[in-house]
Amino acid sequence: MAIATINPTTGETVETFEPLTDAAIETKLGLAQTAFKQYQRLPFEQRSIWMQKAADILERDREIYGKMMTLEMGKTLKSAIAEVEKCALVCRYYAKNAAQFMADVPASTDASSSFVRYQPLGVILAVMPWNFPFWQVFRFAAPTLMAGNVGLLKHASNVPQCALKIEEIFTEAGFPEGVFQTLLVGADKVGKIVADDRVKAATLTGSEPAGESLAAQAGKSLKKVVLELGGSDPFIVMSSADLPAALSTAVTSRMLNSGQTCVAAKRFILAEEIAEEFIAGFVEKFEQLKVGDPMLPETDIGPLATPAILKELDNQVQACIASGAKLLTGGRALSEKAGNFYLPTIVTDIPLKAAARQQEFFGPVALVFRVANIDEAIELANSTSFGLAATAWTTVSSESDRFMNELEAGAVFINGLVKSDPRLPFGGIKRSGYGRELSIQGIHEFVNIKTVWVK
Ligand code: NAP
Repeated sequence: MAIATINPTTGETVETFEPLTDAAIETKLGLAQTAFKQYQRLPFEQRSIWMQKAADILERDREIYGKMMTLEMGKTLKSAIAEVEKCALVCRYYAKNAAQFMADVPASTDASSSFVRYQPLGVILAVMPWNFPFWQVFRFAAPTLMAGNVGLLKHASNVPQCALKIEEIFTEAGFPEGVFQTLLVGADKVGKIVADDRVKAATLTGSEPAGESLAAQAGKSLKKVVLELGGSDPFIVMSSADLPAALSTAVTSRMLNSGQTCVAAKRFILAEEIAEEFIAGFVEKFEQLKVGDPMLPETDIGPLATPAILKELDNQVQACIASGAKLLTGGRALSEKAGNFYLPTIVTDIPLKAAARQQEFFGPVALVFRVANIDEAIELANSTSFGLAATAWTTVSSESDRFMNELEAGAVFINGLVKSDPRLPFGGIKRSGYGRELSIQGIHEFVNIKTVWVK
């Protein structure tokens, strides 16, 4: 895949970039290693000042960065600006809390003193996707740098301007040379970089095949990996639910980022009693959404990030319909427009044998199911290989308890939109990956949890 900015709204190639040579990668790895030697010894207060400066820069230039994201991957400008603001939030969160998260934890044993000490590991590689070009990187970088590690970013090949800009932000914030570097390289270079002795661990957010590949490569050199992979999150609505709230959240969740969100609700599981009413409202709301130029404030849904994503999504929808499912709205690309636009789509009556039941639909497509009771709802929700997050809507507390306990997911939200929050851990189980980002758990992923025992 070429490293290039290709505007998904117009199809125009704006700029192409030469990937780094092997010699240039070697120089950057050396620089990272040298930077770590000094950087790990700096006090939290110093790192915190730089991290807060990074937050200030993000807030100062939110419009510029927002436009860059919209240009490269097509999210609406208003959502891109909100993403930059959220990045500032995660920088401030770790600037404030990292010292406390990394403080020694005493343990009472037969020693005169024993405790757990958290220490940075060294150079950490992050392989990141294009769908939240800033947020995915900052939620890795803020805890990683605050812990005293140094970061290398291999960003998705379709967001090179964002990738380079993020390095610039950390440099302008004052972080020493080599503490955060972007590597403009293709996916084919990742194996060699992970195998390098100077790289101590890696994290990847992206598809299952990419996760499998990185985990296998890291496994060969016995390095720790955190994986944030795909999802097909269930959105369950029981008969007692606040229907208007559930309905509007369902639309928001499915359509966030033009449907290209790992924790978007993708399968809507409705209690029979409310299904008819919910579906009627769902179709109406989907048909009211404005698909178009993501730079315009009135646009709800921009183009998908690449023509390949558009084609794959349409293939999935057509195969689902061909398997016997019923199309309620949408179901095609907007071929009258130049970019990668797809109509908001709802399908239902999906046969048991349909492959769609096991797939992630990474675009504005909702799969709708009806169930007779909570047992069926939970069984259907758990029937995919994914386990990222889940939402359930109910006002019956015994039902909430069952959802919290029985849904196979890294997060369960009751009566609310699934979203990441710096204060809560984020990650999945099953084939959605392993490890956690954010909160105290996130900063502890790339540290040596050292036992100290003194007599
Ligand atoms: P992708 O193709 O897997 O790309 C993600 C990153 O991995 C890119 O930097 C890509 O580089 C790199 N990559 C691809 N193949 C690789 C390989 N064999 N070895 C090493 N690196 C490789 O993902 P995508 O399809 O663009 O992104 C969408 C997926 O990400 C969805 O499944 C979505 O659910 C998931 N996602 C998960 C989370 C989460 O937190 N769980 C968040 C966001 C997205 P190139 O661009 O150079 O190919």
